[in-house]
Amino acid sequence: MRWMSAAILCWSCALLSPASAQTRQEAAAADPAKEHVIWVMSDGLRWQEVFRGADPSLLIPANNDGQPIDSYAKRFVRATLDESRKALMPFLWSVMVPQGEIYGNRDKGSDAYVTNGLNFSYPGYNETLTGHADPRISSNDNIPNPNVTVMEWLDRGWKKNEPGAHNLTAGFGAWEVIGGALNAQRCGFTVNVSYDPLTSIPMTPKLDLLNRWKLESPRIWPDEAFDAPTFYTAMEYLKTQKPRLLYISLGETDDWAHGNRYGFYLESANRVDSYLKQLWDFVQSDPEYRGHTTIFFLPDHGRGSAPTGWQSHGKDLPESKYIFLGAMGAGVPARGELGAGTPAMRQNQVAATVAKLFGRDWVKETPEAGKPLPEIR
Ligand SMILES: [Zn+2]
Repeated sequence: MRWMSAAILCWSCALLSPASAQTRQEAAAADPAKEHVIWVMSDGLRWQEVFRGADPSLLIPANNDGQPIDSYAKRFVRATLDESRKALMPFLWSVMVPQGEIYGNRDKGSDAYVTNGLNFSYPGYNETLTGHADPRISSNDNIPNPNVTVMEWLDRGWKKNEPGAHNLTAGFGAWEVIGGALNAQRCGFTVNVSYDPLTSIPMTPKLDLLNRWKLESPRIWPDEAFDAPTFYTAMEYLKTQKPRLLYISLGETDDWAHGNRYGFYLESANRVDSYLKQLWDFVQSDPEYRGHTTIFFLPDHGRGSAPTGWQSHGKDLPESKYIFLGAMGAGVPARGELGAGTPAMRQNQVAATVAKLFGRDWVKETPEAGKPLPEIR
């Protein structure tokens, strides 16, 4: 997806009762044998909207393909930044951050960034999933990832140690190149992307409808479905298969920004927040997941600044390297919104952090990978 600027394609708690059980700055270590991870990415979602909410200066028709945009100001702009960001992403700011932590508010001195130097999609997905940048991943071409992702490695280990175990890992992507990033041909677990129907598990009425919806709806982007069918397909997999590790990549935040539709971009971010809530509500409702699940939330890259840079990202927009990372769950301390004095977080640290929750050392396996975040255990 992703960048289409002229020539380049960018795409680019057991009820740990929220505040009480985790008011201290450390979390109890996760139990690797029982742990689950839900790993959500929203393509090209800017840290600016996450931490400041909708930018009033961008709410003009010129940033919305000439279409009226006033209604978005009413929905998402409030008197203060704190209120505005809560209006845009209510679950993130009312539940996820108070019970967990979030890196990347540059206004408060917290640094979070990608290390690949390219600031577009496939390099960012590769960095996140493998823990290191790779100069061979220098375009958004849908090539099978030559690197083994932490997901593939974890899944192989589980299958080896637990013969007969199945559907422990799955990856879902609105964008078809997520299939390449995960190396769907080689990885050995379910990967479902773009408009492809999900056929690897027993059909359910809901899944049948989602599959038909994907096949029969108009396609705004030939290589990327809307977020909703992707998310609800992943949800159906989660509920029926109970994977240990679930990865979901959503794409509308990037597409609408490239399309100069700030209103749709905001709505997409707001929907992604509702998806995080639905995932967490499921976690709380299920005894296997409750108290044994960590959720991660980040983008593959940032974007440029207002007034026009927000539409794009890439090497030529150095500020688009800045991202954010939200985390909550059994192994995550309730540190809230991180600020000055917190060590910088790099995108290449996420893979090893996920492995650490399962008691595995990804850096030992892949020495070029970034180290796990020390506070998550
Ligand atoms: Zn993009």
